[in-house]
Amino acid sequence: MELKEKEDLTYLFISHDLSVIKHISDRIGVMYLGNMVELGPSEEIYENPLHPYTKSLLSAIPTTDEVKKDHIILQGDIPSNIFPPSGCKFRTRCPLATEKCAKEVPEYREISKNHFVACHYYEKTKDMK
Ligand code: SF4
Repeated sequence: MELKEKEDLTYLFISHDLSVIKHISDRIGVMYLGNMVELGPSEEIYENPLHPYTKSLLSAIPTTDEVKKDHIILQGDIPSNIFPPSGCKFRTRCPLATEKCAKEVPEYREISKNHFVACHYYEKTKDMK
């Protein structure tokens, strides 16, 4: 972080640990099976995740906050990237998946300024438990 400030550097930092990413990133991209499923400013991603996968990753961050401590446990295993599921690649593990998700690849869209997501039902992500 010191180098970033001093030298005005840009880093691409890759990790599964979103609690670490939160501390060093200005912008976060979430990938699943080789596809960017969500991209946005750090604060926006943490406060308002739009993709179900992002929401499940954030729920796995350890916390002492009673309100935020429910983990979203994804069912199933990560599918093969050689023979990925049809439509949305996340559908075999997504609690919000419908038939549409098996048929159509979700469009990658800008939902608010600089906040992009690829999900047919991103409005429902906030209600996921
Ligand atoms: S498009 Fe469907 S399967 Fe994919 S993340 Fe959204 S709700 Fe889940």
